[in-house]
Amino acid sequence: MNKSNTAGKMLVTITIIIIGLLLVLYLLNNASKSKVITYDNAPSIDGQPVVGDENAPVTVIEFGDFKCPSCKSWGETIYPQLEADYIETGKVKFAFVNVLFHGEESQTGSLAAETILKQSPEKYWEFHEALFADQPDTQNHNEQWLTEEKAIEIASTIEGIDIEAFANSLTNKEEMSQVEHDMDLVEEYAVKVTPTIMVNNKKLDEPFDYDKLKNLIDQELEGK
Ligand code: CA
Repeated sequence: MNKSNTAGKMLVTITIIIIGLLLVLYLLNNASKSKVITYDNAPSIDGQPVVGDENAPVTVIEFGDFKCPSCKSWGETIYPQLEADYIETGKVKFAFVNVLFHGEESQTGSLAAETILKQSPEKYWEFHEALFADQPDTQNHNEQWLTEEKAIEIASTIEGIDIEAFANSLTNKEEMSQVEHDMDLVEEYAVKVTPTIMVNNKKLDEPFDYDKLKNLIDQELEGK
């Protein structure tokens, strides 16, 4: 091996190291940056299930999917904090928009939820929670969980639901236009992952970072 060859190899090595360091710096810089995307308008919550004071100054929307394990987890870990700090104190109202990223089962879950909302709006959140609670901890994606039978089984655990009317509406996909309306919102707000959380017109990239969510809500509250 001659000297120029060795020098050439060193140069290549040094270049690779420098590129590597620049890449690390770039990634670190991006990770620390808040990637909140601001839209001109907040999504309309007309026709959506909403919990909290209707006059609450800030609206938080979850774009979620009953078939999505992260949504179940968000509902069990982050939502209770949001509820205690902001919803029960009248500062935030919370709405849920269906996302259908898991095919037929997502559609069945969305349709079932929209059907309850139409028939017994006061029972919506009870059904919503019961459906997520029933989601298996380890989902085998080849195995169907969220079937019509399952939705009917869950609905029948809730007092005051007309099960026959519910089952008929579900089978006939009567609330499909509501599901399609949610799909339009998903497209309009470029929702790519579930859950996606929006605070008024701002889309948060890290829904599991409660401090970040809190900061965003506080900023919106101050802006009012
Ligand atoms: Ca909806």
